[in-house]
Parts: sequence; structure tokens; C-alpha cells
Amino acid sequence: MKMPDMSDLASWQSIDRAHHIHPFTDQKALRASGSRIICKGEGVYLQDVEGNRYLDGMAGLWCVNVGYGRQELVTAATRQMEELAYYNCFFNTSTPAATRLSQLLAQVTPDGFNQCFFTNSGSEANDTVLRFGRHYWALKGKPEKTIFISRRNAYHGSTVAAGSLGGMAWMHSQGGLPIPDIAHIDQPYWYHEGGDETPEEFGIRVARQLKAKIRELGPDRVAAFIAEPIQGSGGVIIPPSTYWPEIKRICAENEILFIADEVICGFGRTGKWFGSEFYDLKPDMMSMAKGLSSGYVPIGAVMMSDEVADTLVANGFLSHGFTYSGHPLACAVAVRNIEIMLNERLVERVESDIGPYFQEKWASLKNHALVGEARSIGLIAGLEMVKDKSRREKFPTTARVGLFFREAAFRNGLVLRAIGDTVVASPPLVITHAEVDELIEKLGRTLDETERYVR
Ligand code: PLP
Repeated sequence: MKMPDMSDLASWQSIDRAHHIHPFTDQKALRASGSRIICKGEGVYLQDVEGNRYLDGMAGLWCVNVGYGRQELVTAATRQMEELAYYNCFFNTSTPAATRLSQLLAQVTPDGFNQCFFTNSGSEANDTVLRFGRHYWALKGKPEKTIFISRRNAYHGSTVAAGSLGGMAWMHSQGGLPIPDIAHIDQPYWYHEGGDETPEEFGIRVARQLKAKIRELGPDRVAAFIAEPIQGSGGVIIPPSTYWPEIKRICAENEILFIADEVICGFGRTGKWFGSEFYDLKPDMMSMAKGLSSGYVPIGAVMMSDEVADTLVANGFLSHGFTYSGHPLACAVAVRNIEIMLNERLVERVESDIGPYFQEKWASLKNHALVGEARSIGLIAGLEMVKDKSRREKFPTTARVGLFFREAAFRNGLVLRAIGDTVVASPPLVITHAEVDELIEKLGRTLDETERYVR
């Protein structure tokens, strides 16, 4: 079968329509509109088959931390495939690539984290966390501690367990989720759920829902609390300053594991290597993916505290794993990706140079008539488009303001996501000052167009 010419958009779209069911997409609407076909990436820019160029303010799906087109990663992948395209880590074997990556992860994660388990994705990492968390308590002689507490509107992935850990009701409504023994409390989303409380009061109140939920379920039944340091796909929800200290206190008081989902916040996004360091969370396990390989190849991992890892190891056999756990190609690319981040001091750059610059520009958008709040940390940001700023009043969902914004941004050569009417950004960590200016200018223009559309 002959492939279309690269620039023949109509032919690519027609093949895509006929054969490809897309993730998290309105399939019917997509078949009517046709896909955008992206074919190239360089630095922070993407290009589609018609030659249109876009500044990718999302780093793909929050993942291309070192930017597109990194020759070093191509070379690492090629070399690894030439040497050893595949071998597994079952049956007492390993590979230099998997071994080296485990060592590097021990180096870049906080003290007390030295052992990791490899997966292929963030969802698999969170499935692994669920199994390991329950198994950990069984090994401690408390097999009845099986319940995981998460938060409404959290996103932890799309497999059966990860989708259940997530708190998105619209996801649970398809495929019979959640599985048993998962509970949810509210998210720390002050802007739209804080009512008349100050952010600080609200932070304490929603954190204390964890205590109430543990009491309700019984501390002897609760295995763990899982959360992202900053909720990404929920709409870049940055918790009030009072939230994490209170959650930490409640976890410590109640003998439950605390699991940080670092799939988005990890690998420099907040200006620290991990969001857990930004908030001094000291979790028991961290799930990670995305920035681990900058999205160049699928890979995820669970990093365990020494206490958790030593408990699992002491028991001997662990009945969990994937054909591609520690895949040598994925590990070789991830190793090179982390080396780039270390050599180019990308995390430090986010903390003290490009991060503060981006945050200042982002905050200036607060003056726009449509913007109720413009919040950011490091290179992750959210912006609330609202009907009435003074009352933090939302547009009706039927107005589809976020959808209009996203499509208008594309037309303006900018990729950003809108979660409901919350615009979110997470550009590659290599974005330059001039590219931040371009992002903000295009975003401002798109907000103006959205304002005209909606008023
Ligand atoms: N956890 C978080 C916080 C995520 O944002 C995502 C994906 O967006 C996942 C887990 C799932 O990762 P994956 O899509 O690699 O399965």
C-alpha cells in the first residue's frame, strides 16, 4: 500500500479516520473534523504536514522536558538497538542500560530513595504502586490495610487500577470503575471550590477530609494516600500553603503510606527534581514516567523508600512485572535524557532563571478581562477563564470556552491545553526567554479572540 506524500493532509486524515481510534477524544467529532497531523519537532516547535509551525507550550503531554530533536537521544537509541535491542529483567538477568538507569535514579531522587521498579508508563507505575502498597502491609502483618485514598478530579492514568485511583467521574462511568477499596476526598482547588474561605482556611479544611475519611473507613483498613504534588491534568491545581503540611501530619499520625505521583511534577517541572522536594513531602513511593525519557520512548518507574523496598525484598519473590520492565532501549534513552538534564543544569535553570521569568510573564495575564487567576510554579501553569472575575463565576459548560480557546491557539501557532475553561501550560524546560515572550504574546492574542467569541 502506497503511503501519501508527507504534505498530503487529506490523505493522512482519511487513513486516520478509517483506522485509528484516538485516546481521550470525541471520536465522532474527530471523524467529522479530521486530525491535525504533526510530523516534525525541533526544540520547542512542532510542525504539521502542511508546514504550519506551532510553539508547543505543553511539551507534548507534559513530557518533552529536554525539547524535540535531541540528537544525543537518537544516538543513544541507535547504539542500544545495535548492541542489544531487547532483553528482559526476569530470571536473574539485567542489562547495563537498566542497571545504569537504576543507579542514576537513586542519584537524582531524594535521600532514602535507592531502589526502583521499571514499568512502561505512568499508569502501569500507579498500578504497581497499588499492588506494592497492599503487599507491603500484608508483609507487615496487616493484610486488611488495602484501601487507597485519592482525590476527586485526580488523574493517575487510564488502566483499570490507575483509572480507579483517579477521581474523574466521567472516566469511572466507562468500563465499570472504580475497583473496590478506593476512596476519594476533595481536591485542594481553592479558586472554584474555596467559597468564602481564605486559601489557607480552605487548605486546612480539605486536608482534614483525609483524617475524617481514615476515621470513617478505619485506620486499620487504609493502606495509602496517593496524590500529585501539583495536580496537572486536573487543571494545574496548586494547593494552598497550608495543605501539604496538614496532609503530612495526618499520614504520619495514622500509619498509612504516602504516595507521590510524580508523573508530571518529576524531572524538573517545579524547579526541583521532584515535586515532593518542592513541598518537602517525604513520600514512601513515587510513581514517575513522562520526563523520565522526555517522552522519547515509553518508560515509567516506581521509586521506593528504603523501608518499603527492603520490606518487599526481604520477602523474596515478587509476583509482578512486564515483558518490557527495564527495556534496554527505553533505559538507554532515559539515562541519556537524565545526563542531559544534569549536564545542562536544566532543573536549576527552571528554579532560578527561566522559571521566574515565565512566572512573571504568566502572572501579568491576570490583567486580562477574561482571566480570574493566573498561577504557576517552575514551568507549570494554570489560568482560569471566567465569566465574572469578582465572583469567580464560571461560564456555562455549553459555551465551550476552553474548546474555542484551544482551537484558536492552534490557529495562532501555539499549543496549549484547556481543561474545562482552565488553560494549562508546561513548556519544555529548554524554552528560551524569547520563546516565553512569544508564548505569552500568542496566548494574549488567543485570549482576546476568546473574549470576543464569548461576550
Ligand atoms: N499520573 C499522572 C499525574 C499523569 O498526568 C498521567 C498521564 O497524564 C499518568 C499518571 C498516566 O501516565 P501514562 O499516560 O504514561 O500511563
